[in-house]
Amino acid sequence: MQLLQELGEEAKLIAGGQSLIPLMKMRLARPAALIDINHIPGLSGIERHDGEIRLGALARHADIEASSVAAAIPIVHDCAAGIADIQVRNQGTIGGSIAEADPSGDWGAVLLTLETLVRSFGPQGERTVTLEEFIQDAYTTVLGHDELVREVIVRIPPKHSGGAFVAFKRSAPVYATANAAVQLTLGDKDTCKDVRIVLGCVGLMAIRAREAEAELRGRPLTGKALQAAGEAARAAAEPQGDLRGSADYKRVLIGALVKRAIGIAARRARGEQVEAGHEYAAR
Ligand SMILES: Cc1cc2nc3c(=O)[nH]c(=O)nc-3n(C[C@H](O)[C@H](O)[C@H](O)COP(=O)(O)OP(=O)(O)OC[C@H]3O[C@@H](n4cnc5c(N)ncnc54)[C@H](O)[C@@H]3O)c2cc1C
Repeated sequence: MQLLQELGEEAKLIAGGQSLIPLMKMRLARPAALIDINHIPGLSGIERHDGEIRLGALARHADIEASSVAAAIPIVHDCAAGIADIQVRNQGTIGGSIAEADPSGDWGAVLLTLETLVRSFGPQGERTVTLEEFIQDAYTTVLGHDELVREVIVRIPPKHSGGAFVAFKRSAPVYATANAAVQLTLGDKDTCKDVRIVLGCVGLMAIRAREAEAELRGRPLTGKALQAAGEAARAAAEPQGDLRGSADYKRVLIGALVKRAIGIAARRARGEQVEAGHEYAAR
C-alpha cells in the first residue's frame, strides 16, 4: 500500500503477468514501476468457510483447477481448467483476471452466474462489493489505483444445482470465439427453479441473457425449452465480426453453446458426474 501511494498512479501491481506483460510488450501499457505482489503472504489460499469458497487473489488458475475445495462448484473447475495452456494457468491468477476486467476473460463470465463478492483493501481499509458492482465496464473496475484485490468469495449453490462453462476456441492459448456459462437449480418434478446464463466474447462485456433465463425458469427442461433459451441467447448476443468469425457465425455458435451448457448443468444438478470441456476448431 505504501509503495502504491509513494509511486502514484503510474505504478502497477503485477501478479502472474499474463495480461500485463503482453500489454507492455505491445507498448499498450507503459507503467513507470511494477510492484510484485507475489511475496505478500496469505493471498493464495483456496478455502471453504460457512457455505462459501474463498479464493485468494494470488490463487493461480492451475491451483484452482487442481483444488478439491474449488471442485465443490464444478463450473469454477471448468473455468480454471479451460484457460489457455498450462504455462498460462501456472502463472495467471484469479485476482489479476478480475482486476484486468478483460471482456474476453473467462472468470468474469463464469463468476457472474454465481453469487460472487470481491474483497479488496486500500488506504481506507477493506471493502467488499458484488462482482456486478466491481466490474464497471470493459477493462474498468471500482478499484482505485492504490487498492488491491484480496480475495474472491463465491457462495456454494444450494442442493440440486449444477453449472457448466463451455467455449469454442481456435486453439488453447487464445481467447474463445464465444463461450457460455450456465448455473441452474432444479426444483420439484425436475423443473428449473432458478438459472443464470452469461454469454462471453459476443459483446463489449459479458452479457447476462435474462430472456433466455426466463424461457427456463419455473419450467421443465424439455428440448423445446432448451431451443427457446438458445434462440433468446442468440438474440441477446451483440457479436462483432473479427478474425475469430463473422457476427452471424458467432450468433449461431452462442445459441448452440448455451443449449449444450444447459444440458450439462442439468445433468450435474441431477447428481451425474459429467466432464465438460471446451471445443477446439482443430480437434
Ligand atoms: C497466451 C495467453 C492466453 C490467455 N488465454 C486466456 C483465456 O483463454 N481465458 C482467460 O480468461 N484468460 C486468458 N489469458 C489471461 C490470463 O488468464 C491472465 O492470467 C489473467 O488475465 C491475468 O492474471 P495475472 O495474474 O496474470 O495478472 P497480471 O497480468 O499480473 O495483472 C493484470 C492486471 O491486474 C492488476 N492486478 C493483478 N493482481 C491484482 C490484485 N490482486 N489487485 C489489484 N490489481 C491487480 C495488474 O496491475 C494489471 O493491471 C491468457 C493470457 C495469455 C498470455
